[in-house]
Amino acid sequence: MKLARRLANEFNIKKQAENLGVSVWQAPSLMFIMMGVVSISSMLILYYLLRDNRSVETLVVTEALTVAIIFALGSVVIRNFEVVAQANKMKSEFVSIASHQLKTPLSKVSWAAELLLLKHREGLNEEQEKIISRIVSANDEMSRLVKDLLDVARIDQGNLFLANEKIELDKLVEEVVANNKDLAKKFGAKINVIIDKEIPSITGDKRRIAIVIENLISNAIKYADRDGFVEVTLRKEKNKVVCCVKDNGVGIPEDQQDNIFEKFFRSENAVKLRTSGTGLGLYIAKNTIDQSGGDMWFKSIEHVGSLFCFSFPINKKDAQR
Ligand code: ADP
Repeated sequence: MKLARRLANEFNIKKQAENLGVSVWQAPSLMFIMMGVVSISSMLILYYLLRDNRSVETLVVTEALTVAIIFALGSVVIRNFEVVAQANKMKSEFVSIASHQLKTPLSKVSWAAELLLLKHREGLNEEQEKIISRIVSANDEMSRLVKDLLDVARIDQGNLFLANEKIELDKLVEEVVANNKDLAKKFGAKINVIIDKEIPSITGDKRRIAIVIENLISNAIKYADRDGFVEVTLRKEKNKVVCCVKDNGVGIPEDQQDNIFEKFFRSENAVKLRTSGTGLGLYIAKNTIDQSGGDMWFKSIEHVGSLFCFSFPINKKDAQR
């Protein structure tokens, strides 16, 4: 079933052309199909010509024509690919520069608004205070988006540098859960944490792994349409540690599950829930874990819930702890 869907997607020429921003006639799949058709037809023509024992000249001309057509189609494919790759590179550079430039004015706004609240609170009435608090939270949201866009540009340019430090994953999970207590309260969700004894430390980028865990836990809280129940587990399995976040939320529709780790992807049911989101968190999380040498996977059933997990290899040295 999944294979059929994947094949249908692969040969959905119209969708491919739309995704690449080229006309249907320039879609790579169509070019490959045409190349296949030309190759097969030329073989059949050659077969009939040979069978009828035609002249060598006719054979050479037919062969030369076939090669020329395949060559022309091939060069169009390559040219299209070059254009798309170049546009993609320019887009990543643009996003990276724009996000960098946005960072400074955003911190200035945040600094000014916080200063107003801290130092000049006297003289502000309740309404004015509320408005400034709204500025602070909208600014925080924008800063988070800019940070995510910068990370996406780093990933796309192959520049996501990860630190190599010792991480006590059990402590980190507890820290992140504690930081999400307010969000859980806001959404009326309960969080249960189960951590095995003796979790060996791992090696990775602590700040970025914390962002991954934070993303999984905040998603589990956000995507619940009833009394949310989130379970965070951390256990040791042979030569790895596995961290999972399970929820009883809206789940992900089966036909959209293949896209879950794509950037900017948001499932239809999540959008309907009117939760805020950018569809960048899981893309960044998956790339961070993959690049750290770990694995990330998920299972989800619509209207039942989701389970997102990642694993990390244990250092031999750390395993003896
Ligand atoms: P965001 O949450 O900002 O939209 P993410 O990349 O974290 O971005 O998630 C992408 C999409 O995956 C979400 O918009 C949602 O459709 C789906 N998703 C992620 N986690 C869950 C979950 N725990 N339950 C249901 N859907 C989820």
